Amino acid sequence: MTQEAEKTDQRDVVIIGSGPAGYTAALYLARAGYQPVVLAGALTPGGQLVNTTEVENYPGFPDGILGPDLMDKMHDQAEKFGAQIEYDDVVSVDFQADDGLKHVTTDSGTTYSTRAVVVTTGAQYKKLGVPGEVEYSGRGVSYCATCDGFFFKGKPIVVIGGGDSAMEEADFLAGYGSSVTLIHRRNEFRASTIMADRVLSNDNINVIYDSIVTAVHGDDKGAQSVDLTNVVSGETSSLQASGVFVAIGSTPETAFLNGSLETDEDGYITVEHDCTRTSIPGVFAAGDVVDKVYRQAVSAAGMGCRAALDAQSYLSSISQHDSVTV
Ligand SMILES: Cc1cc2nc3c(=O)[nH]c(=O)nc-3n(C[C@H](O)[C@H](O)[C@H](O)COP(=O)(O)OP(=O)(O)OC[C@H]3O[C@@H](n4cnc5c(N)ncnc54)[C@H](O)[C@@H]3O)c2cc1C
Repeated sequence: MTQEAEKTDQRDVVIIGSGPAGYTAALYLARAGYQPVVLAGALTPGGQLVNTTEVENYPGFPDGILGPDLMDKMHDQAEKFGAQIEYDDVVSVDFQADDGLKHVTTDSGTTYSTRAVVVTTGAQYKKLGVPGEVEYSGRGVSYCATCDGFFFKGKPIVVIGGGDSAMEEADFLAGYGSSVTLIHRRNEFRASTIMADRVLSNDNINVIYDSIVTAVHGDDKGAQSVDLTNVVSGETSSLQASGVFVAIGSTPETAFLNGSLETDEDGYITVEHDCTRTSIPGVFAAGDVVDKVYRQAVSAAGMGCRAALDAQSYLSSISQHDSVTV
């Protein structure tokens, strides 16, 4: 911790995370007069969309919008209505303190004491960690078929992975690519039989087993090919690929919670059916840190709205909003 002097700060509501879910929650809570503080993260404020180029499927932008520009607009809109945005990482929480408040401590040494918390810390796609992956990210390398499949219409695509999400991505992309090649490091899939069967019976999908991608190559137009190694024979080869979809899983950003909220077996925060309430009253969660199915900016924003409304309802039920804001 880069702590110089410990500070405390009292709030009605603290939002952790500054992706579409966090900024949308902030907008709603700010307009409702709760003066939320958004702990936006020190290194990646704006969340995952800051790392992409064109976003074509966020409603309201018929000509598309660059990911960083979209997140700047969300930031400005939340701030305009009174949200305070702090570029700080949350390092620990205490959601069950004796004083009845929730305590959220940041890397810079501030502890926020608050009646309600909205957790929107997202998830990180697992990376291959091979040469070219970072260089061609957003220019061929993608982690989201729904987001980027459209850009590879009529072009050769590879998908890497062997679980359900890889099957889903391959099946979806088969409707776009001139060909789809699914590359899996083992000789059988982890995916459910029904998902695997769907892929195996699709004429536009070819499967390469026992193989890993060792590099992505390209030029100024983007990714063009991948290098493969067969892990059994050691044989190497190259495969044409304009789209390289990495579908090897994702990790929700929940380490700072240190087990204080219930999660599922993959670490995603569990919420009550049909709402954003977590296992602790007054703590709400939204976006990719909860949702491993839809994982879209608009669905995260929608859930951020629901979390804000759930938090408002909670705050008014506990105190009719007798403000503790400093
Ligand atoms: C390359 C790429 C391209 C994409 N393209 C599209 C697209 O075209 N269309 C689309 O709909 N979706 C797209 N997505 C998916 C979309 O970005 C996500 O679904 C969406 O951003 C999820 O929003 P979120 O608010 O839940 O979390 P995130 O956007 O992941 O934001 C999480 C936030 O939490 C913060 N955070 C994490 N830990 C802490 C901590 N300890 N303390 C404080 N803050 C913390 C981070 O800094 C970040 O601000 C893309 C994703 C990627 C990676």
